[in-house]
Amino acid sequence: MSPGPWGYVLLRFLALVAAAVLFGLLFGRPFAWLSAFLLAYLGWHLWHLWQLESWLRKKLGEPPRDAPGLWGDVYAHLHRVRLQSRARKKRLARVLKEFRKSTQALPDAGVVLDADHEIVWLNKAAGRLLGLRREDRGQRIENLLRAPEFAAFLRADDAERIMRLSSPLDDDMRLALQVVPYGDNQRLLLARDITHATRLETVRRTFVANASHELRSPLTVIGGYLDALVEEPELVEHWREPVQEMARQSERMRRIIEDLLTLSRLEASGAEAERERVDVQGMLASLKKEALARPQRPAVIELHVESGLGLWGAESEIYSAFANIIGNALKYTPSDGSVHIRWYPEGDTACLSVSDTGVGIPDEAIPRLTERFYRVDKGRDRASGGTGLGLAIVKHVLQRHGARLEVESVLGEGSTFRCRFPAERVWRKS
Ligand code: ADP
Repeated sequence: MSPGPWGYVLLRFLALVAAAVLFGLLFGRPFAWLSAFLLAYLGWHLWHLWQLESWLRKKLGEPPRDAPGLWGDVYAHLHRVRLQSRARKKRLARVLKEFRKSTQALPDAGVVLDADHEIVWLNKAAGRLLGLRREDRGQRIENLLRAPEFAAFLRADDAERIMRLSSPLDDDMRLALQVVPYGDNQRLLLARDITHATRLETVRRTFVANASHELRSPLTVIGGYLDALVEEPELVEHWREPVQEMARQSERMRRIIEDLLTLSRLEASGAEAERERVDVQGMLASLKKEALARPQRPAVIELHVESGLGLWGAESEIYSAFANIIGNALKYTPSDGSVHIRWYPEGDTACLSVSDTGVGIPDEAIPRLTERFYRVDKGRDRASGGTGLGLAIVKHVLQRHGARLEVESVLGEGSTFRCRFPAERVWRKS
């Protein structure tokens, strides 16, 4: 079996010591011989070390020197490692270059921010959309994009949230911004040009608003005549039922149009609702009174209100949201069921909860409830006289108040709708 490189080193060293001892025995002064042999051995190694060091300082192309024994192995090994590391470096540089090229070609702006919101890196589109330049690296982004809502948006640090903003370069250019946290307290700010989509949205919204508005007057006339006809004693008897149905349907159309106009108004107003002082207790009391006055309603309607707890918001909007949720609970609960309305604080926040023992909603339908014209059971829900727009209005109103809608339901047992308002929208009388 071959002794391996270290075996040879050991053998050579032992042979050297043996030779020194032999010389000592032959010529006397064995320690002097031993020291001389060891010094020569050390000198030989130092010389190779010096050679190795000067080779390492040379360029990588230089072939390894011929060296005996272990030194030859060290040269070969180091040469291989250096070649591998050069290949790896080249590969990484190529990947980095490709990555840079692709991020520069992205149509969306990307800006990497550190923990203090200072710009670390940005792509070309960041210049085109946000007006940022390479020289802005190291600057705090809030100092460059000065919209106050942008600073608040950054502080919120919510990856799910998307903020719309006009480009600082062009007021007509609309951007959708998103902040994605990653790594060690870093953030990636993304900005997308949504000018075209926003324009289409505005066209659609204006069309719906105009169409609803135009339909309102003719419908009022038709509804008025139909109401008069229903009351008409001389109406031929076999026409009475169809005319009543026509009056009911025209009333439904009127409500759909009113809801569409409400939605358009909500969409057209800014992102945040105004901050009037809203007396929620009084509002819920009058909603309960209206509910009790309905000819068809669940037997039990209960209201528990924390007094001295109210909201800062748009009163008419909050009224329509609460009326819609309570109206639904009454509509979708049979006459032997019950509806419980509660208005209560939760820490600094406040919550309206409306629970019913009605028909309930299947799990898969819950995420879709706030879509326009979405109905769980088309035939049944249309017959109940709803417009299919109520919860879409609720969603908009809550969004404008920074509030959240939560829905829990068990099919056949009942549902609970909760509106949670943030502390900044809540007032308390102490
Ligand atoms: P609608 O005017 O048809 O009631 P909404 O937008 O208010 O429209 O509600 C959407 C759908 O959600 C309803 O059609 C109904 O199927 C379902 N829904 C809403 N509230 C309740 C409830 N309390 N119980 C059962 N189903 C409900």
